Amino acid sequence: MTRARFGTSTGWKISRWWRRSVGRQYLKVNSIGELLENLGKPGAMILCGGTDLVVKMRSGLLSPELLLDISDLPELREIKKNGSKIEIGTAVTQSELLASEIVRERLPLLITVLSQLGCVQIRNRGTLGGNLVNASPAADSAIPLLLYDAEVILTGSQGERRLAVKDFFRGPGKNALSNGEFLRAVSIPLPNPKLYPFFHKIGRRKALTIAIASLGALLHVEGDLIQEVRLAAGSVAPTPIRLRRVEERANGKRVTASLIEEARKLAQQSVSPIADIRASADYRRTVIADLVAHLFEGVLHV
Ligand SMILES: Cc1cc2nc3c(=O)[nH]c(=O)nc-3n(C[C@H](O)[C@H](O)[C@H](O)COP(=O)(O)OP(=O)(O)OC[C@H]3O[C@@H](n4cnc5c(N)ncnc54)[C@H](O)[C@@H]3O)c2cc1C
Repeated sequence: MTRARFGTSTGWKISRWWRRSVGRQYLKVNSIGELLENLGKPGAMILCGGTDLVVKMRSGLLSPELLLDISDLPELREIKKNGSKIEIGTAVTQSELLASEIVRERLPLLITVLSQLGCVQIRNRGTLGGNLVNASPAADSAIPLLLYDAEVILTGSQGERRLAVKDFFRGPGKNALSNGEFLRAVSIPLPNPKLYPFFHKIGRRKALTIAIASLGALLHVEGDLIQEVRLAAGSVAPTPIRLRRVEERANGKRVTASLIEEARKLAQQSVSPIADIRASADYRRTVIADLVAHLFEGVLHV
């Protein structure tokens, strides 16, 4: 597997900068055992790509006393096929996922989404695990993982547990990790290859943008008949969410003007956006409904 180009030198710079602060420690962990031994210590935090954590440290939002760098741990850097599932180690970078043959072949929606996440420099450092643990309502990679019905694998000193990705998010910045536990990997059931990937992110600009609202879908249609549709939305609720009511209404139905209007209304009712510096709540609600309508209108024009 290819390595992120800037991995080692960036880790070194972070460690040098952080150790300059008196009483702060940086540890590049060499094994999962060493990680678990240190993770329960007061003020310990995991550092992976650092694209979220270092920003928060520099702005003074977070001030960990012990940084545990997991970015080079071989056990956490594998992409492997396990029967009918693909398991992705938490420290695999987004660039490595984009370059992976099996991910490109079997998880095209993940590829579509990651190619719009941040920019090349961010993707060379940023990881799938970090994006999930950060638990932003706008976390782009949450969208394909929700649609694939993926699971997170959490490891602690008591052992391992699995959780559906939808149950991992607990609110803005909140996740289901217990004290002393870390995210080891993500397990993704191989989706039906007939499911067509769709992702549209609305931001304040076209590139390097955080979602104001985003819609992802996996769609299998024959003619105008929707055999299966799965929908997930970002930045329109405290966590990324599936739009189950729209899915239930549309599955097995023919696309008609009235179905599109119903789907639009149900999408609006399914979200609970907030207003922030990027957009108003009303704008987000309207945009997500329009994206759902746009997706179904596309079926009529194929
Ligand atoms: C300029 C810029 C643009 C960006 N654009 C986007 C974008 O378009 N879309 C988007 O979704 N995000 C975007 N991001 C956010 C960011 O790049 C992602 O969230 C990234 O995937 C985080 O991964 P990381 O490895 O860098 O995490 P880190 O910063 O290393 O860690 C993030 C948090 O997760 C914890 N953590 C990391 N790994 C684990 C683990 N295995 N177990 C337990 N805890 C862990 C850390 O302690 C920390 O609290 C952007 C960031 C920047 C700076």
